[in-house]
Amino acid sequence: MGKLEGKVAVITGGNSGIGLATAQEFSREGARLVISGRDQKTLDVAARELGGEVLAVRADASNLAELDRLFAAVKERFGKIDVLFVNAGIAKFAPLDAVTEELFDQVLDINFKGAYFTIQKALPLLNDNASIILNASIAAHLGLPDSSVYAASKAALLTLARTLSAELLSRGIRVNAVSPGPIRTPIFDRLGWTPEVVAETAKSFEKQVPLGRFGRPEEIARTVLFLASADSSFLLGTEIIADGGTSQL
Ligand code: NAD
Repeated sequence: MGKLEGKVAVITGGNSGIGLATAQEFSREGARLVISGRDQKTLDVAARELGGEVLAVRADASNLAELDRLFAAVKERFGKIDVLFVNAGIAKFAPLDAVTEELFDQVLDINFKGAYFTIQKALPLLNDNASIILNASIAAHLGLPDSSVYAASKAALLTLARTLSAELLSRGIRVNAVSPGPIRTPIFDRLGWTPEVVAETAKSFEKQVPLGRFGRPEEIARTVLFLASADSSFLLGTEIIADGGTSQL
């Protein structure tokens, strides 16, 4: 029997990278899935590849009306949620003197405001003892140049894991975070950098990781599975850092 047999799991940004790998892992463990993202085409492809019981909904996480639509669709199809993986996010990097209001608002709107209201809008559907997992980042712990806005947006999620675990304690709902180090996903192709700069940055990341390589989306997916399932029943308000040793060694 799978670790999520019969459970309903919602994964925002479930059509790419870590979210898609997690959808695959959850599906293998028997979950019924809802994936959301911004692109209907890749959502449809992901849903087809996942097979089984999958609802794919186009919804911009930074738009509250679209979040309402997402959870109305979840309610109609499944009526409840057991696992919520708040994963949708973007990365934008710039030095302090080059950060524009637009970059600032975009990153905070999706990574923090989007995550916050995703949880708020999911709340009426969350079962008692549900598990919420927030996708943060190792950037929240390190002083990486050019990451001030992105890192702050992810640090905000770590405080949410604590405050919301306290607020939802009476219902047994656990809120935890995963903080990945560099993981090979399409996020690097969306940075607006030239392929040369991406390759150079990738090399420098690899040097910083004691294991000497990028992480794989499946490695984060298995960590998220642990936080989603009863295996992690004594964890709440906390974080698992999955970074190949970057922040510790
Ligand atoms: P990705 O670009 O492959 O996936 C991002 C997902 O988020 C996509 O499915 C995209 O559709 C969705 N998304 C983005 N903006 C959205 C919006 N406004 N509304 C709805 N969906 C939206 O990248 P990934 O690496 O898989 O990133 C997933 C999460 O992991 C992000 O929150 C990212 O910050 C975090 N993370 C990634 C790394 C890494 O190195 N890849 C490291 C630490 C944390």
